[in-house]
Amino acid sequence: MSGDSTTLKPLLKQADTHMDFELPAEGDPRRLEVRKWCEEHPKPTGMELAKQGYVVPHWIAPWGLEAEPELQLILDDELDRADIRRPNNSVAINNCGISLVVHGTKAQQDRYLWPALSGEEIWCQLFSEPSSGSDLASLQTRAVKDGDHYVINGSKIWTSLAHRAKVGIMVARTDPSAPKHRGLSTFIIDMDAPGVEVKPIDDMTGYPNEYNQCFFTDVRVPVGNLLGVEGDGWKISTSQLQTERVALAKPGAIWGTGPGARDMVRGLSQTEAFEDPLVRQQAASLYIESEILRLLKYRNLSDRLQGRPIGPESAIQKVLSAPHGQRVMAMTLEHMGPRGLISKEKPFESPDDRDEWNWGIWFSPAVTLGIGTTEVMKNVISERLLGMPRENDPDIKRPWKDTGKKKEATS
Ligand SMILES: Cc1cc2nc3c(=O)[nH]c(=O)nc-3n(C[C@H](O)[C@H](O)[C@H](O)COP(=O)(O)OP(=O)(O)OC[C@H]3O[C@@H](n4cnc5c(N)ncnc54)[C@H](O)[C@@H]3O)c2cc1C
Repeated sequence: MSGDSTTLKPLLKQADTHMDFELPAEGDPRRLEVRKWCEEHPKPTGMELAKQGYVVPHWIAPWGLEAEPELQLILDDELDRADIRRPNNSVAINNCGISLVVHGTKAQQDRYLWPALSGEEIWCQLFSEPSSGSDLASLQTRAVKDGDHYVINGSKIWTSLAHRAKVGIMVARTDPSAPKHRGLSTFIIDMDAPGVEVKPIDDMTGYPNEYNQCFFTDVRVPVGNLLGVEGDGWKISTSQLQTERVALAKPGAIWGTGPGARDMVRGLSQTEAFEDPLVRQQAASLYIESEILRLLKYRNLSDRLQGRPIGPESAIQKVLSAPHGQRVMAMTLEHMGPRGLISKEKPFESPDDRDEWNWGIWFSPAVTLGIGTTEVMKNVISERLLGMPRENDPDIKRPWKDTGKKKEATS
């Protein structure tokens, strides 16, 4: 393996004998086969990569290769080595696409999956609403059956990439008289259909808009675009979380991207600020945190490679890594002082032109919210891992139409 992996093995052995994996050798036949394909296709299109099964190797055929974790790592490594990038369509590839594999009809799979995996049609995830984020099951967007269509009315918020998306995967309420989790259904939405309005939300990073609020007014969706059966919306949306792909941990502090604690320590150590013992102490403690998080990620990876079930480390890691990223960005901003207010200003002298620090600093408040807030993740850990009593939700068994959310929707 390139990069981190050369230092990985001795480090893992030192840290914990539980983390014991050999990465596939240079001469591994699976590696050679992938390498040969990359040599024969130095600039593959998204569709060529998709048809080869290299975009979602962990999926079943014909979209994937049912690749075991080792083959997934080999593919990542060989594509990296050949400087071949997979299509960038994260909602389809990492989140929602698998729902069509498991619950979709043949017609839905044929129509939507190849354009998604090849990156030709961008997808977005239409789940959160202005009053339903953590408590997603309380959502108000309604889908009412009318002949061979459903008519959709409501609004969704924080929808990443909706302004570029052709396809949206939406959870909407089909049965208000059922308890909140049971009255939901999932739909494949044509984002260009009449009645769909996408409004960008400017965020404080100053970078081009990525998040949107989407309004749906009498949008007619063919019944053939219902995913699974009516009432299965909750099951389908949660099942997406169970298909995590194996990948080597990325070092960035913001959801694995951007710069991290190591970069901060490297940058700070070249400034006068590092002469202050308090700065050094704070930097060292963030560096230690980042190393612990890195080892936790490797322990998860090792478990996957050994075929062991993922332990509590995975959930704990999510809760720890988001605030850690925020602390790294906060310390960097503190070091910048008033300079931090200047758009695109760099915190440290750096040989390259990248300004990822700037994005990281201003995006970091979002990382404890998106993909499950820290508080909600802590609830998950306490209930599912520690076996503590479940949070009391007075609405859980009542028909949705009799809950406070329904009253809010109609007032
Ligand atoms: C960068 C980013 C990208 C996103 N992209 C998408 C997307 O593409 N599609 C989509 O549908 N959504 C998206 N979201 C929305 C995201 O899923 C929600 O922000 C998230 O579910 C939290 O919901 P909320 O913002 O309504 O906050 P709320 O749920 O209102 O939470 C507000 C505060 O209350 C706390 N809280 C809530 N419930 C509890 C509880 N039971 N116990 C303790 N504390 C609680 C929360 O932790 C939080 O601090 C995105 C969000 C971000 C930040």
